Amino acid sequence: MAKLGDLRRVHSASLLDEVMEYDFDGYRMLDPDTVMCPASRSAALRAAGAGLAAVDAVMLAEAGRTTAFCAVRPPGHHATADSAMGFCLINNIAVAAAHACDRHGLERVAIVDFDVHHGNGTQAIFQNEPRVAYFSTHESGLYPYTGTPHERGRGNLFNALLPPGSGGFRFRNVWADLMLPALDDFRPQLLLVSAGFDAHMRDPLADLMLETEDFAWLTRELRAIARRHAAGRVVSMLEGGYDLEALRDCSVAHVAELR
Ligand SMILES: [Zn+2]
Repeated sequence: MAKLGDLRRVHSASLLDEVMEYDFDGYRMLDPDTVMCPASRSAALRAAGAGLAAVDAVMLAEAGRTTAFCAVRPPGHHATADSAMGFCLINNIAVAAAHACDRHGLERVAIVDFDVHHGNGTQAIFQNEPRVAYFSTHESGLYPYTGTPHERGRGNLFNALLPPGSGGFRFRNVWADLMLPALDDFRPQLLLVSAGFDAHMRDPLADLMLETEDFAWLTRELRAIARRHAAGRVVSMLEGGYDLEALRDCSVAHVAELR
């Protein structure tokens, strides 16, 4: 389980009070999409804690392993410093990135986010933090309606919008032509992945129309960049993915490429 001190690196006291302190029975609505039950607090602490443990494990290359996948929920990339939103309570990937900078002294940590939605929370947390670069493709016209290519932070944000129905060919071209070269130029010492699988064609929440093999392809490309700059270190954390069959198949394909 993550400790509150780990969460305070990226979250305000008011958010941590809201998510971690109030006792309640039944269900609590934090926003129209985001509901808590009494067990959510412990799930959120375990989700964030998994990322911390994974970063420590790959930094130490425990048992010779340099990659990890955290099969966690709730997801995290919409949670900002101050607000739980979009099913997200704690920003798991941001907690992991801040830990990598502060505890392991890294100066270049990349977060790659291929969830079909833009990780507005992750972007907002790191937009003025040059040690962290954020690379996201997401479907245009979808929640949370942020992430245009003009949002550059301090030159450490890389956003690309894909129209509905793009499919794998367009998705791969955007990564191959724009995003992967920028990631390679950043020379990350650690690669973190917000791995959402809701861009899959079976997903009920979006229409990007990717297939399982598209996620495997991108994972291979990311692994190659991690080998080049980061001694192979990749920590991937589950974000969205709302068709269980697609979620299963894509997770397996993704992990197979990380082995
Ligand atoms: Zn999503």
